[in-house]
Amino acid sequence: MTSFFDLYPHIINLIGQVTVLFVLGCLVCGFVLLFLTIYAIRTGNLLFPRFMRAGLIFLEGMMRGLFKLFGVEDQEFLRIMVTLQNTLNRKAFTAIPVGQRSIFVPQCLRAGACPAHLHEEGLKCKSCGLCQIGSAKPLLEQIGYKFFIVPGSSFIKRMVKRYRPKGIIGIGCLIEIKEGTEMAGQLNLISMGIVTTRDGCVETAVNWEEVYHIALLGVNPATVPAELQQYLAL
Ligand code: SF4
Repeated sequence: MTSFFDLYPHIINLIGQVTVLFVLGCLVCGFVLLFLTIYAIRTGNLLFPRFMRAGLIFLEGMMRGLFKLFGVEDQEFLRIMVTLQNTLNRKAFTAIPVGQRSIFVPQCLRAGACPAHLHEEGLKCKSCGLCQIGSAKPLLEQIGYKFFIVPGSSFIKRMVKRYRPKGIIGIGCLIEIKEGTEMAGQLNLISMGIVTTRDGCVETAVNWEEVYHIALLGVNPATVPAELQQYLAL
């Protein structure tokens, strides 16, 4: 009769082989992901976005190391993650009626001399003309968006609880968008993230054309004000 001690070397051998195969598999996947990521950075095209997102999340630690080795900065890694998430969410976001969407912009996007006061539902823009929020807010609200200027980190969750949107657009720096995307996933929201083009604590900037292009996805063109018609998807 075969005892456990007879099988022990075989079990150890098997575990060793499986481990080697697993490590090799991870390395192969890692290099494929590295290639796809560098290709995406150079061309702006995302190939196999589902595979990329799953792989980059599952192998995040190893991939960060590989990226560093090949000169891909952490910022670029995060940027690709945001683009991947947006690509994967785009179809579902497009299908959400605009009345069930909200847009959250950070308070740092305002002008330094912004006269807006803090209210229960965020900072209340006075459309003073010192920054572009003043013109974007009424246009997006006219389409049906709930528009919030976010004063602090817990604010978004509070507004989501109150208004229960199905889709949200979040504007922020890379880290904020990454964290916001994770939070949206936990709350079962379809999110689209837009990274600011200039970071900082005050007077940051965003590409408003990108904001409008995303905001108008799936929106009935007949309801879009003339100022925004040019941003409708062709
Ligand atoms: S337009 Fe609105 S958000 Fe911008 S500075 Fe004026 S009051 Fe503040």
